[in-house]
Amino acid sequence: MYDLEEAAVREFLRRTGARRAALQLPAGLARLLPEISRPFDQLGVETVILAGSCYGACDLADEAAKKLGCDVLLHYGHADMGLRTVLPTLFVEARVKYSPIDSLRLALPELEFRRVGLVATVQHVGHLEEVAKFLAAHGIQAVVGGPSHRARYRGQILGCDVGCAREVAPIVDGFLYLGTGDFHPLGVAVATGKKVVAVNPVSGSFRILPPRQEEFLEKRRAMVARAALGESFGVITSTKRGQTRLGLAKSLVDLLRSEGKKAHLLVVDEVLPEAIENFSFDAWVCAACPRIPIDDADRFRRPVLTPFEVKVMLGRAPLEPYQLDEVSEKERG
Ligand code: SF4
Repeated sequence: MYDLEEAAVREFLRRTGARRAALQLPAGLARLLPEISRPFDQLGVETVILAGSCYGACDLADEAAKKLGCDVLLHYGHADMGLRTVLPTLFVEARVKYSPIDSLRLALPELEFRRVGLVATVQHVGHLEEVAKFLAAHGIQAVVGGPSHRARYRGQILGCDVGCAREVAPIVDGFLYLGTGDFHPLGVAVATGKKVVAVNPVSGSFRILPPRQEEFLEKRRAMVARAALGESFGVITSTKRGQTRLGLAKSLVDLLRSEGKKAHLLVVDEVLPEAIENFSFDAWVCAACPRIPIDDADRFRRPVLTPFEVKVMLGRAPLEPYQLDEVSEKERG
């Protein structure tokens, strides 16, 4: 199902002369370890599996790998987002080989667009051309936006970067998303205010996300209202290389304090309830991965806001139009 790019892995190992390689795998690829290890075993390269989190290319374990005496890092399941690494690093994107056309055929009646924006996660981005041809044959013009802050490919979206959808939103009637999960197409619907047809080429299913995300907006409104009752705020950022938004976190602390709230900056590796809930803040603000306040909010006992929602809470911005939290490289540092 996945292209594990064995030839590229071998070439990388030979070129770098690696003797010990660190491997990072997201949860969905862990079961493929026997297959993934094959080229390393064949070339006599020792492997160290870094079995901690591997949420995105933002979550690089190159420093840990170096401490463990590894010469190289191989990071699976994500595309390079251009972060500096302390070791030679190969990103094996693990693209899905399935053609999405059969699944797309089922969703075709929902694509009542004259012109559609195509977006995908990196696993499916290689199929966008084939999809555009299929749609053209059915009288629909496909448009693909260029890569934005963090994406590497045209049409690629991340949980923290839907720039390519935003770019083409003014000239399309709606979007077609290829990939798994709800977070990415939700981000496109919220950021663009357009209908999204989300096709999952792996399960063969599809779902429709309406242009106005009422349920999402209601949840966020309720979250802001709960946080507004609080006096003290923990503003969290992460030490993960691509999630360290220290400048943003500090500015949020200053903003909250300027409005008479108590606020402290907390830095963790992974933003987990068990890592922070011993602190007695009334609410959290997440200046790390933008998915956390949206996807993981139910795991926290206290409200978790995005940076934009802090402004809403303080009466400095209306909730609508809702501004999705996306990471720009300017925020890091
Ligand atoms: S959405 Fe979060 S986990 Fe995914 S790449 Fe962005 S910061 Fe990393």
